[in-house]
Amino acid sequence: MPEHEKIFTRIDGSRQEIIQLQEALTSRVALGPENNGSGEHAKTGYIKDLLGLLDPDVLDEYRAPDERALDGYRPNLIAKWGGDVAGPTLWVLSHSDIVPPGDISLWKSDPYQTKVEGDKIIGRGVEDNQHGFVSSYIAVKAVIESGQGFGKPVGLAVVADEETGSVYGLSYLLRHQGKLFKKDDLIIVPDGGNEEGTMIEVAEKSMLWLRFTVTGKQCHASTPHKGKNSLFGSAKLILALEKLKKQFNMYDALFSPPQSTFEPTKMEANVPNVNTIPGRNVFYMDCRILPQYSVDKVLDACRETAAEIVSELGLHIQVDTVYHEDATEPTPADAAVVKALAGAIMRVTGREAKPMGIGGGTVAAFFRREGLPAAVWSTVSDTAHQPNEYCLISSVITDAKIFACLYLDT
Ligand SMILES: [Zn+2]
Repeated sequence: MPEHEKIFTRIDGSRQEIIQLQEALTSRVALGPENNGSGEHAKTGYIKDLLGLLDPDVLDEYRAPDERALDGYRPNLIAKWGGDVAGPTLWVLSHSDIVPPGDISLWKSDPYQTKVEGDKIIGRGVEDNQHGFVSSYIAVKAVIESGQGFGKPVGLAVVADEETGSVYGLSYLLRHQGKLFKKDDLIIVPDGGNEEGTMIEVAEKSMLWLRFTVTGKQCHASTPHKGKNSLFGSAKLILALEKLKKQFNMYDALFSPPQSTFEPTKMEANVPNVNTIPGRNVFYMDCRILPQYSVDKVLDACRETAAEIVSELGLHIQVDTVYHEDATEPTPADAAVVKALAGAIMRVTGREAKPMGIGGGTVAAFFRREGLPAAVWSTVSDTAHQPNEYCLISSVITDAKIFACLYLDT
């Protein structure tokens, strides 16, 4: 018990180090080719050096071939400690890549230069997913510096490509290095959670991303009768798609939010000038579907709705699936990783954590598909992908203590 307290005190003193780490990580912009970047190389290289200084038993870089990226690959890191201890490995898997800042005018500061405001560090990537890496890393460092041994083997994995499908990240590792992770390992993905740190995510919804291409006829805006306005058609279709919420309205209290979601998101640029009626308009919808529903049924409903608009307005509408991920078997609520995590959370914060389901999109689904029970957890303010994304230093410290407990306990 007093040993834990010593390590907690050490972690309490790491505010400055957290700020420095976040600054260094944020300035090494890790955007994948789909986000017009060259990859995660600079950031991963920096992390590899950091991990190397902690004298791991294993420090391997697995390069997923990707000709679009710098030097033709995407970097994935694995580091392990406690090789002398028996038992299953406790893994913490975070991702190095980020999403672009989005509309830069919405940022109050440079997204790639961290700004500290009291307990907040602001910058792109500080929460998603540097919070996860920094807290798990600080904990490894504190345990090592304390001179205490690990209670179990501990692994940190830092993967690429989480934001754009994981083909060159975790999915690559599982396909090519399948023996790294074992069925009785405890796998934590600190890439989601709530502000209290009480949400242990064990289940995800199915994901369906759709592209709607609405084709009409371009013409001068002063003579609309000579064309067919594809933007107007898109607007009608977006409103008509609202009925999906009624059609698929089941509630499941395990999930937050407890129902399926259907949100229009991205729209591609159409015409460059105000006085032209666009002949073609493309928009996208992000659907998160409760596992009780079949994704194909949702797709059918979208096509039917599009057909109604087609017959009403005489446009052409094509519906394409750009991404589809069926919900996996959930991690059991009484899985070893859930129990260990809940115990450590209780010990550090006195709070009772609860297994829950979310909208999906974390890499935990890839583990679950392989029969590896993974839990998604962290103490976050949910500012991922938003302008002025931030993390709380106090939450990084809390999470580091929770990881330290997990590393120390046998
Ligand atoms: Zn993330």
